[in-house]
Amino acid sequence: MIGIIFGPPGSGKGTQAAKIETEFQLAHLSTGEILRAEVARGTETGKEVGRIMAAGDLIPDDIIVSIVRQRLPESEAGPGVLLDGFPRTLQQAQALDEMLAEEGHRVDFVIALDVPEDVLVERILQRAAVQGRADDTRGAIAERMHEYHKLTEAVLDHYRKKGVRVEVVDGQGDVDDVFERIRRAIGISSR
Ligand code: AMP
Repeated sequence: MIGIIFGPPGSGKGTQAAKIETEFQLAHLSTGEILRAEVARGTETGKEVGRIMAAGDLIPDDIIVSIVRQRLPESEAGPGVLLDGFPRTLQQAQALDEMLAEEGHRVDFVIALDVPEDVLVERILQRAAVQGRADDTRGAIAERMHEYHKLTEAVLDHYRKKGVRVEVVDGQGDVDDVFERIRRAIGISSR
């Protein structure tokens, strides 16, 4: 089973992905986490990636696709994969579909978290106070929202057109309530 957890910055993808991973025994593959680890290692690539992330921009598709190409086989070895923060552009979605097709796999479902923009900004600013992520500043948040609308939203249409089940889930409210909605949506999708 290959699933994607999708949504704008601050919609709770990472939080919900951790819960889905446990409940459905899916391997959680988060490109944001992989990139943050690379930045923390302080490599040359890490420095370049860190600058782009701090500005709220997207990392070039070729870098992201090569990261996923390296990591995906390990994740695919188990019962299923949950992709978090990937694909974020149409090009990434097409590259993913090709990678999966090589193994006879396909995206089975997309869970799209829906949260109004004012709530998103509020949540991210709260997260900034707790976690201090370098890209959780007002300027970077505005840029990340812009990139989401300009490039990432199109990924949903791509999967709808391919006939992949896209479940839009209300991402507002208590973490456990949101998870319950997701659990039901995945249950329906995997039948
Ligand atoms: P996230 O943890 O998913 O919110 O990602 C944090 C940041 O990492 C994003 O704002 C981008 O700068 C970068 N990033 C993560 N995943 C991708 C991706 N699939 N494509 C491009 N940039 C990404």
